[in-house]
Amino acid sequence: MNISRRTFLKDAGLLVAAMGMGPALLPTVAEALEEMATGRAPILWLQGQSCSGCSVSLLNSESPGPADLVTRYLSLYFHQTLSAATGEAAKEAMARAIEAGGYILVVEGAVPLGMPEACRIAEENFVSLLTRAASKAKAVVSVGACASFGGIPAAPPNLTGAAAVSEALERAGIQVPLIHLPGCPPHPAWIVGNLVQVLKVGIPELDEFRRPKRTYGQLLHEQCPYFANYQAKKFALHPGDAGCLFKLGCQGVVTHSDCSSRGWNGGVNWCIRGRAVCIGCARPEFAKDPAFPFYRLNEKPETV
Ligand code: SF4
Ligand code: SF4
Repeated sequence: MNISRRTFLKDAGLLVAAMGMGPALLPTVAEALEEMATGRAPILWLQGQSCSGCSVSLLNSESPGPADLVTRYLSLYFHQTLSAATGEAAKEAMARAIEAGGYILVVEGAVPLGMPEACRIAEENFVSLLTRAASKAKAVVSVGACASFGGIPAAPPNLTGAAAVSEALERAGIQVPLIHLPGCPPHPAWIVGNLVQVLKVGIPELDEFRRPKRTYGQLLHEQCPYFANYQAKKFALHPGDAGCLFKLGCQGVVTHSDCSSRGWNGGVNWCIRGRAVCIGCARPEFAKDPAFPFYRLNEKPETV
């Protein structure tokens, strides 16, 4: 692929701005993109118990956005949804990648620790493939709520014993730098921006849940356009009402992510601007906490 230096710098500029990095990192990010474009920074992407929503989010295009960045820069050794290879060819590509090692292993989806046969890739169950691939990886990036914390597959009654990637690695005694990019799905800029950072700058500063602080360091609620309504106790009591959505179950009060300042779909919209509550998809408790709105449909709203 022949890409000019100007394109690297332009894309690096977009990425640096999207991630809120300082301009001093521009040359480093441009260099990282150059490496990614020439295949010197390989990515092995495995999907466990996933709906593929994180992969779809990765390709959610802005102008120019992650879709351009992915097609130009990510050297995907293997990706269940995006790889052109199928069957034996795909299996061989994966085997070659694992044998060579030194890649960034991206994992999407939970791990069926209680029922390994529930998820297989070729003849191998996912638990075995994951631990084999992780043991040869430079770093592991858990993309999405399911890989990071178990997510929806791990919600009660969790018949497959679905667990986070971290738990599977811990059980297998594998020690490798691991970062979590939760969200259902995670924002494409969270995925691409943090992958570039891991590849070139190093593991970003993480919080207690292994989430990059730059992406997940702020309480969503504090940047919400309805924060003044919250403080004035002007609450929507029914869907479609004006005001803060807290009494309809909004989890923005306990959710750390930059959705309220970044927006989605190129900043055009996001959950709360679209008048849906934040369901806390970036939280470790997502889908498992009884406070999850789907558990609360028959309950009366809390009083403030
Ligand atoms: S709508 Fe949600 S995030 Fe926004 S101020 Fe109300 S409770 Fe907070
Ligand atoms: S606003 Fe809440 S539910 Fe929506 S994407 Fe952000 S963290 Fe997830």
